[in-house]
Amino acid sequence: MTDATRREPFVLLVEDDDGIATPLAAALRTHGYGVERVATGRQALARARAGADAVVLDLGLPDIDGVEVARRLRDLVPGVPVLMLTARTTEADVVVGLDAGADDYVTKPFRLAELLARLRALLRRAGEARGAEEAGTLSAQDVRVDRAARRAWRGDEELELSAKEFDLLALLVGSAGTVLTRERIMEQVWDTNWFGSTKTLDMHVSWLRRKLGDDASAPRYVTTVRGVGFRFEP
Ligand code: CA
Repeated sequence: MTDATRREPFVLLVEDDDGIATPLAAALRTHGYGVERVATGRQALARARAGADAVVLDLGLPDIDGVEVARRLRDLVPGVPVLMLTARTTEADVVVGLDAGADDYVTKPFRLAELLARLRALLRRAGEARGAEEAGTLSAQDVRVDRAARRAWRGDEELELSAKEFDLLALLVGSAGTVLTRERIMEQVWDTNWFGSTKTLDMHVSWLRRKLGDDASAPRYVTTVRGVGFRFEP
C-alpha cells in the first residue's frame, strides 16, 4: 500500500452491530480515514484481499470467530495491523497475548479518542516496518546487501565496493533470478539513458565478479545473458 502521493489511510471495519459500526465509520471518516464497513468474518476476508492499511475487527462476529478471522488475515495480508474490538478485557488478553493475529485491542464500550490513538500508533508502526523492509537487507545465495548502511557481505566477509559497484550489486541482488537489461542497469545505476557503448558497465561487472570471487567463464553469481544483460543467480 505504498503510493507516491500518499492518500488517506484505508480502514476495513468489521463489526456486525450497526449501533457501533455506523457512528464509528462516520467518526473515522471525519478523522481523515477511508472506511469500508462489513458485518461478517467472511466478508472481511473477501474484502481484505483487495488491500487495507488497517483492520478494526470485532471479536464477536455472527459467522467466523474474530480470533480466527485475525489469524486468517495474518496469512492473507501480512503486515496489515489488526485492532480488535472486544467486550471484555479478559478476552482481549487472550486475543493479543496468544499472538492470534491481533496487534492491539480496545474494550467495548470504548472512547473514540482511545481507539483513534491506538489506530494511529498501529499505522505508524506498520509504516515504519514497511520502510525498514524497503530500505533493508537484500540477499541471494550467500551475498547480503544492506542498502541503508551501504554495506555488503559474501558469507561473513565484508566486500569493499566502490559506490557504483555497490549500486550495481544492490540492483542485481534485489532482482536475483531475473535478467536485468543493460539499458535498465545503466538507467538505474548511472542515471543515464545509454544509447552507445556499455563498456563502463562491463568493467564494473568484471570488477564486481572479481570481488565476489566469481569466475566469468563459469559464474556462480553474475551470469551474462548474451545480447540482453545480466542476472544474479538466486
Ligand atoms: Ca459483535
